[in-house]
Amino acid sequence: MEQLRVKKLASKRIRQGYPMLEPLDFIKPLSAKEGALVEIVDEKSQFLAKAYIGSENKAVGWVLTRKEDEAIDKAFFSRLFEKAREKRVSFEADATTTAYRFFNGEGDGLGGLTIERYENYYVFSWYSAGIYAHRQMIYEAFEETMTNPAGIYEKLRFKTSQERSRFVSGKQAPEPLIVMENGIRFAVYLDDGLMTGIFLDQRNVRGRLMEEYAAGKTVLNTFSYTGAFSVAAAMGGATHTTSVDLANRSLERTREQFEVNELSPDDHTIRVMDVFNYFNYAKRHELTFDVVVVDPPTFARSKKRTFSVEKDYVSLLEDIIDVTAPGGLMVVSTNSRKVTREEFAGFVEEAFDNKGQSYSIVEEHRAPEDFTIHPAVPSSDYLKVFFVQKED
Ligand code: SAH
Repeated sequence: MEQLRVKKLASKRIRQGYPMLEPLDFIKPLSAKEGALVEIVDEKSQFLAKAYIGSENKAVGWVLTRKEDEAIDKAFFSRLFEKAREKRVSFEADATTTAYRFFNGEGDGLGGLTIERYENYYVFSWYSAGIYAHRQMIYEAFEETMTNPAGIYEKLRFKTSQERSRFVSGKQAPEPLIVMENGIRFAVYLDDGLMTGIFLDQRNVRGRLMEEYAAGKTVLNTFSYTGAFSVAAAMGGATHTTSVDLANRSLERTREQFEVNELSPDDHTIRVMDVFNYFNYAKRHELTFDVVVVDPPTFARSKKRTFSVEKDYVSLLEDIIDVTAPGGLMVVSTNSRKVTREEFAGFVEEAFDNKGQSYSIVEEHRAPEDFTIHPAVPSSDYLKVFFVQKED
């Protein structure tokens, strides 16, 4: 194994358990190839860790083990999967939730790979060519550890990959595949681009909306994608939901989510349009809603404008405040790793100040337990959701 020497500060971080390798950590510019298994040593050539090289955003590689005598072989990956599975026995046993994150990158000991479970199908997301170079050993370890996965799909989330989504092994899932979450059904597509139709990290938020906040209420779901929040609200007894998304496909996908739950989509409103145009429309018609959900992408470009969480969330919140009824609830969310929880709370405060309105935060959420957080990597705690009540 090639030895790579790192600087003092990086040595200290790695000793304390930080698993991400960054370009400036190394004493000599990094020349190891994607996928190389390397030994990381400190300035005095003392062993620190075994790692692989793989570039992904800020990272140029990830620590695999800090034990000098631990081999990186099939058994190593089997142990990781075994542990991941043990952490999720409560999910495995729960028939009302059949989709969850089975393996969460560095949170489960291997940066660069996540695995989601949908019924008995598994979707692997590979984040660098470096980790993907080890796929054969990793898939073998997985198949040996798991009891009969029905089928495996993969998403290639790195720039050098040609294809983005493909079926790997086992049998193909029905299209759509119906999964359950808190007793609600969701239609998912495992081989349709990088996304499946549901963002599993919002499970608890959808759960709270359904059980506590939706009954008897009108709900506006902005950036609604396949309408998951709308369906959760409708299942929780919302009198009417309105879903707004710019993507054409959102219309039929949202209708389908209602239908698989035996709700009539015709009882609800689904609009394919820019949310910012929708706000103008709502204001012209003096429409307000009891509950408004906002969970935008971190960055989006539409015909007329670009939206970025860091620059534009405050003004988006001001629009949301306008379309929320007095005493109503705003469910505000961001998955941006660049915005901290404190900063996000600051956006809420700033928007309400600008509007001269008062509010209170009634609930706070982060990603659920299956999205295991790495204690030394603050950005692994990326999801921030506030339930904000607008005062009368
Ligand atoms: N909140 C959703 C996920 C949102 S994904 C959920 O929980 O399931 C982001 C969505 O925003 C995409 O479906 C995209 O089509 C939509 N989008 C991006 N810019 C938009 C805009 N300006 N107006 C409406 N929708 C937009």
